[in-house]
Amino acid sequence: MNHPKIDRVIFNFMGACNLRCEFCYVPFTDKSNGNIQVWKKVIERLNFLSPRIITVGGGEPFANAEIVEFLSDLKNSGKIVHVDTNATLLSNFNVDLLKQCVDVIAVPIDGIGAVHDTFRGNNGNFDCVSIALKRLSSSDIKVRVNTVIHKGNFKQLKEIAKVVSLNNVAQWQLYEYMWYPSINKIEDLSEILIDCNLLKQLESIAKTKLVYAKGKERRNCYLFVSALGNVYKLNDDGNGYIQLGSIMDDKVLENIAMSINATNVRSRANIKMI
Ligand code: SF4
Repeated sequence: MNHPKIDRVIFNFMGACNLRCEFCYVPFTDKSNGNIQVWKKVIERLNFLSPRIITVGGGEPFANAEIVEFLSDLKNSGKIVHVDTNATLLSNFNVDLLKQCVDVIAVPIDGIGAVHDTFRGNNGNFDCVSIALKRLSSSDIKVRVNTVIHKGNFKQLKEIAKVVSLNNVAQWQLYEYMWYPSINKIEDLSEILIDCNLLKQLESIAKTKLVYAKGKERRNCYLFVSALGNVYKLNDDGNGYIQLGSIMDDKVLENIAMSINATNVRSRANIKMI
């Protein structure tokens, strides 16, 4: 059986997370987060698609006891390993050990102080991310800061850029808000950002590479696989998922070829390389 090459796969823990962010984009449809034996089987199946990059993301990866061993296995198997973390549990981990098994680690700054905390539904989370960012900055691990632009933080973007500039950040990614509740969404965001030259100003303040892609440009760029092997892609509106089935099913692997645009996935993956 021929399988398509999908350059990047997002491996999500869809059983549980330690936070309950109101805007969360992860469908928590798995009964549990499984264990390393299950995760390895999922990766084994994914290898038919020859992914170059595995992005391990929420529910919070570091809430899973065997995560470092798993990341280490991924790295040793030749994958480029990216991790998206909410940073709440990073203080429990040795950054020098993480550096050996992670190529890029991404942390969120979705506002300054209480704006970030409210968006994440977690008091003190902004301070927690700030401390984690300082720790990561002092190592030579590559760090990405992710910011979801919403009504609450739009006026704070220059302040966030300043925070980015004070740390050793390899890339700052701005995301258009596409999820719920819709009250957070800014209409015509792209036009606002580009018309007033705001992106250039933010990049100059942040003193690092700034990446922004419109929501609709990212819709057909992702393949999601849960830790238990359930495969998803985004719906046409980009604000929900379509479940494609289990990675253990050969028909699902074949179906991925027709469901996912491999060229778009590769373009997005290249943006993620820093
Ligand atoms: S930390 Fe991430 S995965 Fe967890 S609830 Fe928040 S957005 Fe969802």
